[in-house]
Amino acid sequence: MSLGEFDLIKRYFKQAALKNTHADVVIGIGDDCAILDVPEGYQLAVTTDSLVAGVHFFEDVCAYRLGYKSLAVNLSDLAAMGALPKWVSLAITLPSVDEKWLSEFSRGFFELANKHNISLIGGDTTKGPLSITVSAKGIVPRQKALLRSGANVGDLICVSSVLGNGALGLASKLDQMQLKEPDSFVDALELTEPRNELGVLLTHYASSCIDISDGLLQDLGHIVEASQCCATVKLETLPLSIAMQKEIEHQTLSLDQALHYALTGGDDYELLFTINEQHYKQLILQTLPVAITVIGEVVEQQSQKIQLTNNDESVSSQLSGWDHFKQN
Ligand SMILES: [Mg+2]
Repeated sequence: MSLGEFDLIKRYFKQAALKNTHADVVIGIGDDCAILDVPEGYQLAVTTDSLVAGVHFFEDVCAYRLGYKSLAVNLSDLAAMGALPKWVSLAITLPSVDEKWLSEFSRGFFELANKHNISLIGGDTTKGPLSITVSAKGIVPRQKALLRSGANVGDLICVSSVLGNGALGLASKLDQMQLKEPDSFVDALELTEPRNELGVLLTHYASSCIDISDGLLQDLGHIVEASQCCATVKLETLPLSIAMQKEIEHQTLSLDQALHYALTGGDDYELLFTINEQHYKQLILQTLPVAITVIGEVVEQQSQKIQLTNNDESVSSQLSGWDHFKQN
């Protein structure tokens, strides 16, 4: 990459960054470090994710969607802690400088950044196989961050929106599933909506929280492990999208497959949280930015860390039947 090309990239992102820089950025792009003002009474929440071509995304994914999603997955981690996103840095490794690609990538990235009022505060560019590293920073009131370790016996287990759409989108792209209308599932996979507004609200109510990136069962597993408790999940309550229900009606998807994607599919980026009943009653009186569904309960020790039930009957024996759908 020539010096001119580096300049082009830097100019590109710097110009877009300057359009949305806030007073809390004391020093932004252009010096050796960014200098940020964290408001009194708040703590800084920091997360970093790398996306590598051929590993985390298809090499031919449209640049707009890649720009959008590389930020969305980071914002989702901030949402899981109840942090309000404020700043982001971006490191791009590119095989060559393609101005159209850069333009589309930055359009997707800044669309989401501007929606959440986040300032780009720095980054880096190198030549090599395509990969994107984003580090998002947010603020959370002191001692109010939502942790995985806070769940208590008797708490309700809730999720935001619907489950399984992202994983079904991936299965469709990999030709593992032939869906009647795959577009909405692929959109769910590539245009993930991070739940930051809900996350911030939950700091007042929830006892623990995580974002579903690896699948409901695995991520609930992280909560029960960190909180040293067990959980029951009621299959009949799992929220499935209307698009998914239509595929079931068209018999392009069985109910078992739908439940498999809802339970084990990653890429949902919904919030999974625990909350005591009294706080739940208060929460649902608020104007919620997204629908939430109670899917189970935190319980004391039981034979399995996570027990699945269907209309109060244990279905854990069927779990092995879902194993063959597993991707890895
Ligand atoms: Mg996470």
